[in-house]
Amino acid sequence: MIKKLVIFGVGLIGGSLAMSLKKANYCNTIIGCSRSVESLQKAQELGVIDDYTLDPIEAVNGADMILLAVPMGAMGSVLQSIKGHVEADAVVTDAGSAKASVVAAAREVFGEIPPYFVPAHPIAGREKSGVEAAIVDLYVDHKVIVTPLPETDAAAEQRVIAMWQATGADVESMEVEKHDQVLAATSHLPHVLAYSLVDTLSHSDASDAIFHYAAGGFRDFTRIASSDPVMWRDICLENRDAILASMEEFQANLQILHQQVSDADSDGIMETFTHAKAVRDDYMKKQST
Ligand code: NAD
Repeated sequence: MIKKLVIFGVGLIGGSLAMSLKKANYCNTIIGCSRSVESLQKAQELGVIDDYTLDPIEAVNGADMILLAVPMGAMGSVLQSIKGHVEADAVVTDAGSAKASVVAAAREVFGEIPPYFVPAHPIAGREKSGVEAAIVDLYVDHKVIVTPLPETDAAAEQRVIAMWQATGADVESMEVEKHDQVLAATSHLPHVLAYSLVDTLSHSDASDAIFHYAAGGFRDFTRIASSDPVMWRDICLENRDAILASMEEFQANLQILHQQVSDADSDGIMETFTHAKAVRDDYMKKQST
């Protein structure tokens, strides 16, 4: 149970957590804090939060759980704004999509990693943002990865795990570096590719015809290119090395396929596609069980 949960950034991720924890009766009070009074008013009107303040110090006063669900680029400034005001029994966690940069921001602000700081990342999202896009069951049966550090207090980690479990999520622990590599490959690279594909086609001389005749395959592949560009720019900047490594691996593999097509290498193309289909079919099968 949480007595007072403070959410910095009541958008899709913070708002969905608040809705879910309210449904589970897991918090006595949920307070929103942000720079924008409009989004906080909206969140209160929608019943997502109980109250709000624009003052970070007032927000964390008496709070036993503090969640940062702000854009990646704002994590450091929010931590700075609460430095010295976190209650002795409070836990601070975040929901950022990349972990090494949040950990670096915490180290820079506090000089060392505070034992009460538990980095985490819910692997759930939508291509919409803002509190209006928040949904109560966003985390049900989705994974949440916590990336505790050697300095992290085990009891603080356990409280963050319990909070996410109360939303119906399946919580796992992982090292920061591994998290960033895995997410670069499974989430960040697909977003980069979707944005790049739409951008490439839009610059084609035949773009009118391309978009006129685009059908299911195009829609499926490019759905995530409708995601918030600011958020994805931040992720590219915050997880740059791991994303670059994934892009380079992809470029090298695409180059092999390019050669196979150029050589009319029927067997090579067939082998690539057959292997990819088997891997995806297996993944989908595991998802449905
Ligand atoms: P969002 O745009 O829906 O919400 C962000 C909220 O933060 C907004 O309410 C905004 O007003 C507020 N905000 C912006 N700057 C702020 C600041 N300096 N101080 C306080 N509040 C501020 O974004 P989101 O999709 O909820 O993403 C939030 C975080 O969660 C990001 O760090 C993102 O990387 C991470 N995340 C997103 C997804 C996803 O699919 N959207 C999934 C997992 C994790």
